[in-house]
Amino acid sequence: MPDIRRSAANTALVLNATYEPLCVVSVRRATILVLTAKAVCVADGDGVLHSARSALPVPSVVRLTRYVRVPYRTHVGMSRRAIFARDGWRCAYCHGSAETIDHVMPRSRGGRHAWDNVVAACARCNHTKGDKTPAELGWRLRVTPMAPKGLAWRVLGHRAPDPRWSSWLDLSDTPAAAA
Ligand SMILES: [Zn+2]
Repeated sequence: MPDIRRSAANTALVLNATYEPLCVVSVRRATILVLTAKAVCVADGDGVLHSARSALPVPSVVRLTRYVRVPYRTHVGMSRRAIFARDGWRCAYCHGSAETIDHVMPRSRGGRHAWDNVVAACARCNHTKGDKTPAELGWRLRVTPMAPKGLAWRVLGHRAPDPRWSSWLDLSDTPAAAA
């Protein structure tokens, strides 16, 4: 097994046999796919992986050798990091640096934990808001929260994309690369 700790980039884009982007995996996982002939490397990353017998370029994009049928995912997973990425790590109320998640309609009043009811917020705004709604405080949301759309979001989640993936994935509407 090559030493993959030396690789600079640590993720790789996986394409289906049809070149459709599927997901992002660790370089380690992508390397194993290539070494077991389950995938071929279509774009090299930075560096070379050395094993006892051979040297292999670090994969940045790999393509599966056999087509896999994947159920079409329409929902982007709603992790804490994904919420911060959608909102650019900015508070929905004051545009300051966000470090908390706020439910616009408070959960104590029936607000759902869903993309259209969660926003990134700074600790101060979140504390001040408490169990009130923005309307009760005379606050306005900078943007109406909604679920992120697009293939890039579904494939990448909160991850910042590698520019080398732009030939296979439209990166114009992707999570902010901050943090
Ligand atoms: Zn704030």
